Amino acid sequence: MRAVDIIIKKRDHQSLSAEEIAFFVNGYVTGAIPDYQAAAWAMAVLLNGMDDRETADLTMAMANSGQVLDLSDIVDVVVDKHSTGGVGDKTTIAVLPMVAACGLHCGKMSGRGLGFSGGTLDKLESIPGYRVDISTAEFRAQLRQHGIVLTGQSLDLAPADGKFYALRDVTGTVPSIPLIASSIMSKKIASGANAIVLDVKVGNGAFMEDLPQARTLASAMRAIGKLAGRQVVTLLSDMNQPLGVAVGNALELAEAIDTLNAAGPADFTHHCLHAAAHMLVLGGKAPTLQQAEQLAHQTIQSGSALRKLEELVQAQGGDPAYVRQPSLLPRAPFIQTVAAPASGFVAEVNARLVGEAAVDLGAGRAKKGDPIDHAVGFRILRKVGDAIEQGQPLFEVHANSQPSLQTAVQRVLAAHRISPAPVQPLPLFYTQDPA
Ligand code: URA
Repeated sequence: MRAVDIIIKKRDHQSLSAEEIAFFVNGYVTGAIPDYQAAAWAMAVLLNGMDDRETADLTMAMANSGQVLDLSDIVDVVVDKHSTGGVGDKTTIAVLPMVAACGLHCGKMSGRGLGFSGGTLDKLESIPGYRVDISTAEFRAQLRQHGIVLTGQSLDLAPADGKFYALRDVTGTVPSIPLIASSIMSKKIASGANAIVLDVKVGNGAFMEDLPQARTLASAMRAIGKLAGRQVVTLLSDMNQPLGVAVGNALELAEAIDTLNAAGPADFTHHCLHAAAHMLVLGGKAPTLQQAEQLAHQTIQSGSALRKLEELVQAQGGDPAYVRQPSLLPRAPFIQTVAAPASGFVAEVNARLVGEAAVDLGAGRAKKGDPIDHAVGFRILRKVGDAIEQGQPLFEVHANSQPSLQTAVQRVLAAHRISPAPVQPLPLFYTQDPA
């Protein structure tokens, strides 16, 4: 078999066999297939798609590129969640400790920033020493001892996703249903979770811009979960404006910590409680979503979720003082509050434009392996539907130089639209099925 023939086949709209897909995935992992061929192949998949069988074969080839954890000797149910990616989406950092504090085991493999969307691993690395490359043995030991693991792909867990993910980030090959579904589900399968909540984001700051696409992605991932014998619940949530207030790695981590201190933004807190509730119901801790939300809420009130986050950070080599005192987190040298240019109601805060501006400030990568600046980003102070007077604070820019600050101010101002007439707030969640 030759990689070039597999690329040509997909370029010419043909289906790939399970053997061809496994050959390509394994060849890329071992280095026999170079980046340029993998990029051409990913672009062919993005443009020409894959059918359900190919997507399932791709998922299994990626999951099987490393070890597939069997955690049944540790606990019966391991719960996990994953978002398809958005702007300001720091949900995992708040939700995993809530759910683990309720006594469910949470073992999760997260990702880095992807295109304009932020990545949980980049956010956590704002804490010095936090390791995102723990081995399989460490994963098992930590899950057993602490009931919570939040790491990245490693050389022995879904290494194919680690390589494809970094490649897709910089080759314009992210927004593809088979590539996203296989990326997410291969990690979920490899990390051994058997109860999985998938938060499918929809809107201009998501890879699925409309509801029909998002529903197709959700159903593709549910189908893979079924094939792999995992319980999968999908949520559809809005990503037309950033989630919460903070956008940028350390700023988002601080907001997740604030949320566990009962001082988070209302929309983000509500979003987290809802996602946590689905995990708690799936993991058998509560019979209804309402009761589960109450359980999750108690972990905030009692401080147990915050203590779980500290425990997680310490277990993975980070300094837990950063959780107790988020003011220790990296802080940008140039911070400016930008005032509303007009009075009225916020009609738009375009999440994609804000995400792209954050990447250009240094919060994300332009090339594979680029370093990122953990301190930079934005605080979006008004959300869609809010009333505002001219001159009141609209957003904050955190930058590492004056020129980049000035560019970001203009870009994020352009992402905002203020209407003279009242505007309905955006929903947090959408229904699964067409109305
Ligand atoms: N999250 C992932 O893990 N992979 C994707 O492709 C998109 C979001």
